[in-house]
Amino acid sequence: MTEDYKKVVDGAREAFDNGTTLPLEFRVHQLKRLKAMYSDHSQVFMDALHSDLNKPDMEAALFEVSACINDIDYILNRITSWTTPEKVSSVIPLDKSLIYREPYGVTLVMGAWNYPMQLTMTPVHGAMAAGNTVIIKPSEVSPATASALAKLVPQYLDQTCYPVVCGGVTETTELLKERFDYIFYTGSTTVGKIVREAANKHLTPTTLELGGKSPCYVDTSVNLDKAARRILWGKMINLGQTCIAPDYVLCPREVREPLVSAMKEVLLEWFGPEPKTSPDLGRIVATRHVDRLAKYLDSGRAVVGGGYNREEKWVEPTILVDVKEDSKIMQEEIFGPILPILTVDNHTQAIDLIRAKERPLALYIFSVNKDIQDTFLRRVQCGGVCINDTIFHISNNKLPFGGVGWSGMGGYHGKFTFDTFSHLKSVLSRSYNPILEKITCMRFPPYTEKKKKV
Ligand code: NAD
Repeated sequence: MTEDYKKVVDGAREAFDNGTTLPLEFRVHQLKRLKAMYSDHSQVFMDALHSDLNKPDMEAALFEVSACINDIDYILNRITSWTTPEKVSSVIPLDKSLIYREPYGVTLVMGAWNYPMQLTMTPVHGAMAAGNTVIIKPSEVSPATASALAKLVPQYLDQTCYPVVCGGVTETTELLKERFDYIFYTGSTTVGKIVREAANKHLTPTTLELGGKSPCYVDTSVNLDKAARRILWGKMINLGQTCIAPDYVLCPREVREPLVSAMKEVLLEWFGPEPKTSPDLGRIVATRHVDRLAKYLDSGRAVVGGGYNREEKWVEPTILVDVKEDSKIMQEEIFGPILPILTVDNHTQAIDLIRAKERPLALYIFSVNKDIQDTFLRRVQCGGVCINDTIFHISNNKLPFGGVGWSGMGGYHGKFTFDTFSHLKSVLSRSYNPILEKITCMRFPPYTEKKKKV
């Protein structure tokens, strides 16, 4: 059953128009309440994440609950300076030039299911800090976390300014008919296009945090045991369901065998001979995704893993070699624990192969050769880059996170989130100072010859 979304959005609009969310004290109070919600109910969220994705406690704490708490702390420590109008220099020094960061109004944040707390709530924090009202839409694909948010958020936050709405495709389709002043969407490129189309009807600006195939290049210059650990960690957290997980590896021929054997050892050390029994591996979110992943398994020769179990929503950590460039697994984002390793003649061929695909969300370069690093940086357009590790580039709040082309548009994290949800309003203020008057009156007609010469 679809809710009366018009009523929900109208309520949020009325609250915004009344100026409810504008005072700094209100924003700070609400953010503190949200932080209290995360702390008071951390176990509820950990349990929900376990139920949705069998998320290991350490991953749930680190990437979800603590990530949300730390994000609010980061904002609260800076919100006063962020909301103070920014002075900039003026063309005529007697003028005053200021940039006001003004909230857009009624915003919609649509979260993803793979990190259902962090990816839903951290954009919400920035939208609240910037003074917007926010309709919060968690993903129905992670139902336990969505229910926890729907139950707890109204107990802590103003319900009119920050309502939570739940539902799937039908509900989302209805919700998107409403007029918003900003939409922030995290999910697939396919649905990103649908969101964009709906937003266009009202000229609503959007941030789209999408996906794609994030490549990983490994060359002979690096310690392969360390590289194997860093790549496999990024690939196996959340059982591969991470938007910036290394999707596939490209390496020169001579790297493949030693890299594969290093990876085999690492997987054995981390998850034992029966990875399914390891408490440190999650599960695939839904059986339809297990079916999708199972179809990739015959795209190459499995040198590790290769098994799956539909009922248990399980896909084994798998390494595939002898994978053809035109095979199914190389056409779509994998979003699971299957790592294809393809060989190339050199880094130039790797770059050509990457550039032949849509622009990725992340690029990983495992090389200590500066020339090779620079060539990748110059030649590959992508959302972000991590050199000699995976995932870590998104841990620095001072770096914006976001895609380009089909991997998305716009960026967030730290102050970038606040700026994303703020319109930058230019204000020039002029006095009646006589010197200024003399300088500026030159513009007035009649445009005499004397004036033209100045
Ligand atoms: P999805 O985009 O298919 O679904 C997300 C939401 O969109 C769902 O809640 C659903 O209700 C809604 N939806 C689905 N079909 C719809 C339709 N036809 N009309 C309106 N709404 C519809 O999400 P997914 O594919 O399960 O998510 C995985 C993708 O998300 C991957 O590509 C991944 O890389 C990407 N992702 C990106 C980021 C990022 O930060 N850039 C983070 C997480 C996931």
